[in-house]
Amino acid sequence: MVKFLELAQFFERLEGTTSRLEMSQILYELFSKADKEEIDKVVYLTMGELVPSFRGLEFGVSEKLVMEALSKACGLKLSSIQKLYKDLGDVGKVALEVLKREGKGLSVSQVYEELYSIARAKGTLDKVMLLINLLRALSSVEAKFVVRIIVGNLRLGVGEATIIEALALLLGRREYKQMVERAYNLCSDLGLVAKTLAQKGLQGLAEFKIQPGYPIRMALAERVASAEELIRRLGKCAVEAKYDGFRLQIHKKGEEVYIYSRNLEPMTEMLPEIKQAITKIDADELIIEGEALAVNEQTGEFYPFQITIQRKRKYNIYEYSKEYPLKLFCFDLLYLNGEDYTTKAFIDRRKKLEDLITFGNTLELSELRIVQSAKEVEEFFEDAILRGLEGIMGKRLDAPYTAGSRNFNWVKLKRSYKGQLADTVDVVIVGYFYGRGARAELGIGALLTAVYDPSSDTFKTVSKVGSGFSEEEWISLKKMLDEIKLDHKHARVDSLITPDVWVEPKYVITVSADEITRSPLHTAGKTGDEPGYALRFPRAVGFVRLDKRPEDANTVEEILRMYQIQKRISVE
Ligand code: ATP
Repeated sequence: MVKFLELAQFFERLEGTTSRLEMSQILYELFSKADKEEIDKVVYLTMGELVPSFRGLEFGVSEKLVMEALSKACGLKLSSIQKLYKDLGDVGKVALEVLKREGKGLSVSQVYEELYSIARAKGTLDKVMLLINLLRALSSVEAKFVVRIIVGNLRLGVGEATIIEALALLLGRREYKQMVERAYNLCSDLGLVAKTLAQKGLQGLAEFKIQPGYPIRMALAERVASAEELIRRLGKCAVEAKYDGFRLQIHKKGEEVYIYSRNLEPMTEMLPEIKQAITKIDADELIIEGEALAVNEQTGEFYPFQITIQRKRKYNIYEYSKEYPLKLFCFDLLYLNGEDYTTKAFIDRRKKLEDLITFGNTLELSELRIVQSAKEVEEFFEDAILRGLEGIMGKRLDAPYTAGSRNFNWVKLKRSYKGQLADTVDVVIVGYFYGRGARAELGIGALLTAVYDPSSDTFKTVSKVGSGFSEEEWISLKKMLDEIKLDHKHARVDSLITPDVWVEPKYVITVSADEITRSPLHTAGKTGDEPGYALRFPRAVGFVRLDKRPEDANTVEEILRMYQIQKRISVE
């Protein structure tokens, strides 16, 4: 059994290192100490959560409330606590400073239960009362991490990949990583994977199965530059319309329906019409995927993405579902009545999907054609573009559904414009620069942004972004970034440039650019003395992408592919 104080000490060690290898060693040590009943809780807390994010449990406790609780727990005036917070910029450091006591030696499970009650409590008052009681039982270093977890800002720098590595070490060999990854891809719940591993060992992982109610990590597509390349890569294949909406994975379990976004966040309550349509499908248990889109019922035309995305909201859902009803274009079947379909060939999954989705108002099948020549692909593509779609998808007929991975089983071919990259790039903000000239007053003038490198689980810089935001947007951005600013470079950021302010890699923005160039200043794709890659004339499109996690940003490898595609297009 692990004491919460021990866990806090492990957290201190994790916070003190920037080496990923060391992090996985520390985590391995921690996980080895945890017993079978608590290892899931240890994993969740290390990720700053109580349950996986797809369960949608939030603390609903602001920094302000935490300060009130701290003030009550230590007897200092609220104004003094607020002043300290202003100076230190982190509720964790404030707690460390003001709570000078021993603590009652609570176990991880006890603290977890208390935190769970805080998250589940309905009213603010109840939450604060529970928090005060908890703080009174904690030592300062324990409180430091508890309050950070509550405000959603643990700052350990530990990514999923590092936890997976540590779990593989627990099995005795780094090579077992693939098995841990497989289980994770099937349930998106590292706590459950850890528990299975602790209780049933290697065999438990080998027998790990999909369960409705646990989202499967989504398969992603690579990009191709032309119809020729599509055929060269896939041979005879399926091409589908590429709808510009949002991707959903939908689970049915008896009468219950769970809907998850691309980012595996719960969306069930936001999509009543889809939920209803799914209950009518003739299957006990089912997992399908599709793209949801607002469609004008009179004309049959798609509304722009801005209208569709408005459904990601908490209020007035019912009114919205009447004004802009969504259609779901179903494109894959992953599970049916106890049978795992992800291992079956795409064409077989599709056939079964066609049996299940019969014509209705809300559910439709994605438009599909089987093709074998570049000419046929070209025709399908031209037609899709004419109808206002953003491109097409190509799918290998014999490929399984590769959960959690991006590969050439699926490809996307998008419209491209001369002098502009065909695709926008999703980048993570890792720091910002104070403004100059007209922006001096705003205190922010440009962002340092990065792409994700899964092999090292780090963020590598690719561009400074200084345009595309309105003045109001800069102001809100600064506010959001100041809440996650750091006094040093984040452990997972790899950068040669030093911005005025470092921030935790948390927010993703979409950027369009003229082209990708080689640059000695940036670390994305940089090897030895060879320069890295950078975006030329980047400008932000829209605001922060709250639907993407930092690891969902584009990867270094994708930047390299975009660079190659761009070279090929400019030759053609
Ligand atoms: P990605 O999802 O690949 O990380 P993204 O969110 O920017 O990136 P794109 O790269 O533009 O999306 O294209 C892939 C996405 O296209 C899928 O994730 C899915 O949401 C969407 N999509 C639309 N139509 C289809 C279809 N017929 N089959 C599969 N995906 C489709």
